[in-house]
Amino acid sequence: MTAVDLRSDTVTQPTVAMREAMMAAPLGDDVFGDDPSVNALQAHIAAITGKEAALFMASGTQSNLCGMMAHCDRGDEYIVGQNAHTYRYEGGGAAVLGSIQPQPLAQDAAGLMRLEDIAAAIKPDDPHFARTRLLCLENTWNGQPMPQAYLQQATDLARQHGLATHLDGARVFNAAVARGGDAFQNLRDIVDLFDSVSICFSKGLGAPVGSALCGSRELIDRARRWRKMVGGGLRQSGLLAAAAHHALDHHVARLADDHALAQRLAQGLSNIKGLSVRSAQTNIVFVDVADGLGPDLLSHLERLGVRATGLIGLRFVTHLDVDAAGIDHAIACTQAFFSEGASQTASRSAGTAVY
Ligand SMILES: *Cc1c(COP(=O)(O)O)cnc(C)c1O
Repeated sequence: MTAVDLRSDTVTQPTVAMREAMMAAPLGDDVFGDDPSVNALQAHIAAITGKEAALFMASGTQSNLCGMMAHCDRGDEYIVGQNAHTYRYEGGGAAVLGSIQPQPLAQDAAGLMRLEDIAAAIKPDDPHFARTRLLCLENTWNGQPMPQAYLQQATDLARQHGLATHLDGARVFNAAVARGGDAFQNLRDIVDLFDSVSICFSKGLGAPVGSALCGSRELIDRARRWRKMVGGGLRQSGLLAAAAHHALDHHVARLADDHALAQRLAQGLSNIKGLSVRSAQTNIVFVDVADGLGPDLLSHLERLGVRATGLIGLRFVTHLDVDAAGIDHAIACTQAFFSEGASQTASRSAGTAVY
């Protein structure tokens, strides 16, 4: 049995209250546009993000893809970070399905592309080149909120060159909550800079399925056509929209709890010799493990009911199904791995009771 699953904030189970909201949701057929729960969610997230319209999507990947295809035509190009989700982790969908050429650029440790690099990558209007059409940014990036000044400068630069802007905001609520104060106002400050934003309900917000693409009515109308084409026209999806709606109403402020638990974990792990903890600004903690012991540590933790991901650098993600006791258990198990002597730990811990 897995007791402390820190692989991702996608592993959460819907709460009892969320399941009740799903059971109570009035349903229709969303392909006909008459599912009241989907329509209510779309109106709600459009209002929260201050955009004209929103579209409920099956996943963040589908939402980013349909967003990029709504912004770009065949033969257009988008500028994107070398390690950004919309370039590296979405199966090349924009290129495969949209005939949109990515122009990936190097990012620094905070995920930022240099403004000079962005400017230099924008192609002149010349038949030799793809038409540079869109800038894609991601916030949070590896659990780090992007500095507001950078978001402002990068989107200003894009606008000066006539580029559209899309934010992959899978975890943008984490960025908004991390800033402190009014999370919904913080969210507006971020997304106001972009023409479109994609937000995941199935990560820290704790819904089982779904994302939303938000933007102008015209953009969303184009995206709806692409969504149908990629198989995302769902029917009684109000069942899922109700879960997302519940998450927006009840699970935003509590992201601060996930951030506090990530801090607790980071602090606990930072005292352990052999580990170096990278900053935990929201709900993701990256840890570098010395001497190539990452995989051994990972399997040691797995045997004790603590799950994480990674190889050289391990990744721990907090979420609404983890509590302080679970975090302390994860710290204790990691401590034991190093204090028992990493090489012997594997055999010794094999029979240990699972937490
Ligand atoms: C998870 C994630 C996505 C994609 O979401 P899926 O629902 O898994 O398709 C996109 N961007 C970022 C930054 C993500 O973390």
